[in-house]
Amino acid sequence: MTNIQVVGRHSVDAPVLRYDPTRVELEAFLEGQPRYRIDQVWRGLYERGAPLEDLTDIPKALRSTLVELLPSALEPAAESVSRDGQTVKWLWRLHDGRTIETVLMHYRDRTTVCVSTQAGCAMACGFCATGQSGFDRQLSVGEIVEQVARARVTSAPRRVSNVVFMGMGEPMANYDRMWAAVERIHGDIGISARHITVSTVGVIPGIDRLGDEALPVNLAVSLHAANDTLRNELVPVNRRYPIEELVRACERYLAAKNRRISFEWALIEGVNDRDSDARELAVLCHRLRAHVNLIPLNPTPGYPTKGTSRAGVDGFCDQLEQLGINATVRRNRGTEIDAACGQLRASRQILDPRRLG
Ligand code: SAH
Repeated sequence: MTNIQVVGRHSVDAPVLRYDPTRVELEAFLEGQPRYRIDQVWRGLYERGAPLEDLTDIPKALRSTLVELLPSALEPAAESVSRDGQTVKWLWRLHDGRTIETVLMHYRDRTTVCVSTQAGCAMACGFCATGQSGFDRQLSVGEIVEQVARARVTSAPRRVSNVVFMGMGEPMANYDRMWAAVERIHGDIGISARHITVSTVGVIPGIDRLGDEALPVNLAVSLHAANDTLRNELVPVNRRYPIEELVRACERYLAAKNRRISFEWALIEGVNDRDSDARELAVLCHRLRAHVNLIPLNPTPGYPTKGTSRAGVDGFCDQLEQLGINATVRRNRGTEIDAACGQLRASRQILDPRRLG
């Protein structure tokens, strides 16, 4: 084993974590080992879906060395499972004590993992628990990829079919590592790009870069308001990337990739759930043939306004459909276990601050 440069780390003095090295970097790391061993380790980490400690086909001594020199990035700080067992949420503690969340969701026809790309977030959306707590740091490639690897172990025998970059953080603000993680999840874990969704608050340069990539992933945009006055208030980054420019960037993405774009819309009572909101949203959707995902706002400690009632959500959805727009209501199935947008971390901070490193 030799010390090598691993580019996917979050900083030059961070440790090299289990899923940080690329295949080539791992080869350098395992210098002197026969090629078939390197293949075995790589397949063990990415294809087998078992913890490294359990890969008994790798000689014990090598396994112990790997476990020691390539430590796991994620130590469970809390885990919660919904009553029906269909949603699992983790709060992970990272090597420097920061915490992030990952959610595993089983549906009838698919199993989705929702991953974080940053510890905290700098986008400062007032209704979002992560936004309320500010930015800590970027996640490394390994810290992102291992979230999928760990969820996969828990998910078995059900296969993880989809990955959404909708956890903590703004994926486009950690673009290089986020994209390296997408390539690893696609190429090595084997989840097709068509089943990977990158969600952004609307960072236009990131959308344009995504359009230049070879892999056609799905793009989701957290819109929440369809006029600049309201969006400036709900999503502060709108002042930098206003709606008309954002929609044009989405048009470019659509032209480049021909993948369906979706808008996320957290329904907030009396704020963005009025008839006029539905009509304004419909105009933008028509331009992009976009799909809308509606979710009643989850309550967070720092935002007093309530989510729209169930009947109000259904009414808003019906109205969109009458305007010819495809919309889906996402029952925030995570609410009961704080599985939304930094809420597990936030509730831990309130309940038991000692648990945070
Ligand atoms: N930064 C990225 C991805 C993370 S947020 C983005 O903005 O898309 C994932 C989704 O959860 C976003 O659509 C976000 O706006 C939404 N969200 C944040 N806080 C929420 C809350 N309290 N209730 C409902 N949805 C929320």
